[in-house]
This record gives sequence, structure tokens and C-alpha cells, in this order.
Amino acid sequence: MMAPPSSVPDSAQTRAGESNLDATRLQEILEIARHTPGPRVVLTGAGISAESGIPTFRGAEGYWQVGSRNYQPSELATLRAFTEMPAEIWAWYLYRRAVCRAALPNDGHRALAELEATLGDRFLLITQNVDGLHLRAGNSQDRTYQIHGNLDFTRCSAGCHIGVDPLPDELSAWRKDQALDAASRELLHCPHCGAWLRPHVLWFDECYDEVRYRFESSLSAAESCGILLIVGTSGATNLPMQVAARVAERGAPLIVVDPEPSPFTDMAEASPAGCFAQGLAGEWVPQICAELANKPVNPS
Ligand code: NAD
Repeated sequence: MMAPPSSVPDSAQTRAGESNLDATRLQEILEIARHTPGPRVVLTGAGISAESGIPTFRGAEGYWQVGSRNYQPSELATLRAFTEMPAEIWAWYLYRRAVCRAALPNDGHRALAELEATLGDRFLLITQNVDGLHLRAGNSQDRTYQIHGNLDFTRCSAGCHIGVDPLPDELSAWRKDQALDAASRELLHCPHCGAWLRPHVLWFDECYDEVRYRFESSLSAAESCGILLIVGTSGATNLPMQVAARVAERGAPLIVVDPEPSPFTDMAEASPAGCFAQGLAGEWVPQICAELANKPVNPS
């Protein structure tokens, strides 16, 4: 049996009993990845930003009050809710965006930016996060597929023109209980056609596409990657599940980092080249990225 290399955290060994992962298994997967051509692809969810202080949807802090009623994010992040109560939905997004702007990238984000700096076009990041922290950490726009959009941008809800615009600076600071006033309403209307602007995000009752959300590009990355590292996502959305399922079907290396089990951890544990690294992104991602950066990779 291979001795655990010093670069794998001690926590891998202490955590082995809890998570069924031992350091040897992780090293085996990384070794298979070393001989598997194709880009190193990372898929992130809200969990990687949890240590920056941004609540996940799965956590208890996710709900939001409108009038006397509490809503779950899955009810609010919909075209239907926006159509029925645009000002209230905008207040929720402006508050969420203010939380994201006040947060800083953490060790997990920084490790992924360093990995891209090392691997260049042999690296690809697919993120469900709309907080922009990967870009602020240094990942490039080109190699970051923001498959659910980015809260820093708006677009016309009537689709009168193609393209996105930055959210006006005047709306950057937003309190939790703050309602839209006349001035902010005006800033949130399209200067071309007068319709409401909308956040540049994919809502739960909308479909992915390539132009805005890199749908086909993400599936194609799943077909060609030499390893997929999944961090902090619960499996509540469609494209990430498809990406992971394609990688698992190919038998390509698959590592999942999350403190909690999920459909992704089941896929990894059922795969001949997969493992579940149970724990926090800030603990695991820097270690795994260091391994991926140091190991020579066959040309893709
Ligand atoms: P989710 O809230 O459904 O799941 C979060 C996952 O992260 C869970 O599996 C949880 O166990 C895990 N997690 C919590 N803390 C972690 C940590 N420190 N390290 C690693 N993992 C940790 O989020 P999701 O799966 O990304 O999908 C739901 C939707 O939520 C997506 O559409 C996404 O756009 C949106 N969302 C984004 C943000 C953000 O941009 N930061 C925040 C909340 C929700």
C-alpha cells in the first residue's frame, strides 16, 4: 500500500473513518488523473463561497420575507416571482449582491485562480455562483463558465437588446429591509425600451443556453476532461448533474469536496476513479489544487 504523501493533509487521515476517504485513495485518483489527458475541470457551487460569509441556499439563512410571508430561494429565484413582484425580487437581489460585494475571496477561490495561472488553457472552471468571487480572485472570464450568471450585471427583461450591462454603482450598498425608492426604480429600467431590467442570472424556471450560460461548452468539457473536481454543490440544479454524470459514465477521475453527502458524492463513490473528500472547501481545495498543479499532465 502506498504511503500517504506529505502534501495530503493530515486531516485526510483523521477524517478517513468519518468519510470513508483515506489519503491513499485520494492519491490513487490524482495518479489516474495524471495519466488521463484533457483539461482539469472544476465545478463549484455556493459551498465554496460559504467560508467568505455568503449564505448557501441549502442553509437556514436562505429564506426571505416579503410582507408577512417567508419565501424559499427556489420560489424567489424564478421568472414567475419576478413577473409578479419585480420590485420585491430586485430588493432581494440587491441585498444579496451587497453581501457578495462585501465578501472577499477565500483560500479555495485563490487556489483555483493559482491553478488557472499554472495550467492556462488546460484549466476550466464551471461555476453556479453568481457572486463574482472567482473572477475577483483572479480566474479569467474566458475560462470561467458562469452557468447561472453574475449578480454584478443586468439585462433588459423584455430582451430589447442583446448583451449585459454592469449594475449601476448607486445600487451597490443595500440593506436587508430596504425597499426600492423612485430613484432606484428608474435605474432599474431599461434606458432603451423602458421595461424593467432584470438580474443577469438564470432562474429556476428558465432554461440554460450557450450564449448566456455556456450550456454546450460545459457538457463538452465533461466529455473531454482529464479530471473533474466538484466543490460545494448540493445537486439541486440540472446542468451540474449532467456534467458530473457524463464524467462518471466515462469513468474519468472525479473528486467531490463537501461537508455533506449529495448525489455527487454518490456518483463519485460509485465510480472506479472517484472519491468523496468530506469537509470544507478551504481545507481541501488548496491541497488538491497543489497536487493538480505539480503533477505533469499529458497534452489534451
Ligand atoms: P446549495 O445551497 O444548494 O448547496 C451548497 C452546498 O455547499 C451543500 O452541499 C453544502 O453542504 C455545501 N457546503 C456548505 N459549506 C461548505 C464549505 N465550507 N465547503 C464546501 N462545501 C460546503 O448551492 P448550489 O448547489 O450551488 O445551488 C443552488 C443555487 O444557488 C445555484 O443556482 C447558485 O447559483 C445559487 N447560489 C449561489 C450563491 C453564490 O453565488 N455564492 C449563494 C447561494 C446560492
